[in-house]
Amino acid sequence: MLIDSHCHLDMDDYTDDLDAILARAKAAGVSQIITVGIDLDSSRQALALARKYSMLKAAVGIHPHDSVHASDSDWDGLLNLVAEGGDAIVAWGEIGLDYAKDYSPRPIQRRQFARQLELAAEARLPVIIHDREAHSDILAALLANPVRQHGGVLHCFSGDWLLAKKVVDLGLYVSLSGVVTFKNAAALQEVAVKVPLDRLLVETDGPFLAPHPYRGKRNEPAWLVKTAEHIARLRGISLAELAAATTANTRRLFAIEHEKDK
Ligand SMILES: [Zn+2]
Repeated sequence: MLIDSHCHLDMDDYTDDLDAILARAKAAGVSQIITVGIDLDSSRQALALARKYSMLKAAVGIHPHDSVHASDSDWDGLLNLVAEGGDAIVAWGEIGLDYAKDYSPRPIQRRQFARQLELAAEARLPVIIHDREAHSDILAALLANPVRQHGGVLHCFSGDWLLAKKVVDLGLYVSLSGVVTFKNAAALQEVAVKVPLDRLLVETDGPFLAPHPYRGKRNEPAWLVKTAEHIARLRGISLAELAAATTANTRRLFAIEHEKDK
């Protein structure tokens, strides 16, 4: 059984066939999915989905793309969601820095990232971090605002092994997306092999970044198996072993109980 540690099920891409998507995920062995908010409205929808479907958990936060629009009322709104969400909300995210697209000015991105690291600590939640071409500033922010107590993950990890090692040394997890299956992803494949097995998560980041052989299509949680198979092959272990480890890691980080424990 796999857990998709990062997907955006509230996005319009999924509105028409979400039930079928979740059924296909289950049939493929993806037992749980974290659906991740990118702004207040999307976080609210993520919580609503997690309440509707037992296989879903939600994360709430403001994406760096939207950080220029975030205000105090958004922070209050997110904290209220956490208070009302209970077990359905397992993380604060996604937050971080995106210097590839620069949709928000970098100083604002940095300020809102630091602010949300504080809010996550206040909410006693682990963080889901987005890092695009901002490795050194991400590390600097994490050193200034340690998240050790509740932990966190660099989602859709896009650095090399040197960065992954620093992330692991900070006590955080590394999550790999379908990008690791692409032919030109040698640096990421090295990370997939070297990262300690107890620090690795897997994700789709759907609807984006579909793994080979679906590259370019709308991604969905069932296809997480392609990514997991690829990583297992690179590491020379079975899919079952990779799935057991990444599922245990995801449950540990996000304090998710086994379905059967409920
Ligand atoms: Zn995302």
